[in-house]
Amino acid sequence: MKIGVLTIFPEMVKVIKEYGVIAQAVKNRVIDIEIFNLRDYTTDKHKTVDDYPYGGGPGMVMKVEPFYRFYDEYVKKHSKPYIILTSPQGETLNNNVLKELSVQKNIVIICGRYEGVDERIMQIVDKEISIGDYVLTGGELPAMVILDALSRFVPGTVDEESVKNDSFYNDILDHPHYTRPRNFRGLKVPEVLFSGNHSKIELWRRKMALKKTIEKRPDLFLKKEFDITDKKALLELFRELIKNAQ
Ligand code: SAM
Repeated sequence: MKIGVLTIFPEMVKVIKEYGVIAQAVKNRVIDIEIFNLRDYTTDKHKTVDDYPYGGGPGMVMKVEPFYRFYDEYVKKHSKPYIILTSPQGETLNNNVLKELSVQKNIVIICGRYEGVDERIMQIVDKEISIGDYVLTGGELPAMVILDALSRFVPGTVDEESVKNDSFYNDILDHPHYTRPRNFRGLKVPEVLFSGNHSKIELWRRKMALKKTIEKRPDLFLKKEFDITDKKALLELFRELIKNAQ
């Protein structure tokens, strides 16, 4: 997958390519990340990207021309990209949005600044994405959040099995994890994890994932469609709850 980020602060976004599994995926050419400086698409000597709002009022607005200049040049060099505008007014990012986006081969994420972008940019935008109901000073952090989360859906970035167990993938939260030591200050790792019985471990993990979901995100639990493993795990969970209540 090819992902471009268009920003006035390229140095801020660049670091995402330098750490962890994303750095590895870039090195292995699983994802190709290119950061574009919006100022390179201006024509005046001050490389102006903002101007006063028509109608007056506080703040500045990002000018429309540099975006279109970028777009025209990009389309000439590559194919037409799927353009995401970071915006607090967009659809809130979640796993379903990411799954939809993961089929795209060529994405460009636009980072707004100031009061936002000139509305006429919407002609080239395919989707507006928000990372939550609050307003940040710029779209760079949202772009990095989108890029990071999206890259986990690109085959070859992380172990696909681990993605399938992650929170939200199956509309529930992840199960608890343990590593050595087996006993830390009297806090013991659950015995079942040493049983060597794979299906028993799987059932325990599903049970704990459902338990965590009920406790922390009942909204997800109420929407969940249960498969046969969920049903078995829930039965075991309810039996334990009844036993403990007696
Ligand atoms: N005046 C805009 C509004 O209220 O809708 C907010 C502009 S904000 C100060 C500047 C830029 O930060 C936005 O254009 C957008 O790119 C980015 N931004 C701020 N909050 C965001 C959020 N929650 N999700 C995604 N992008 C956000």
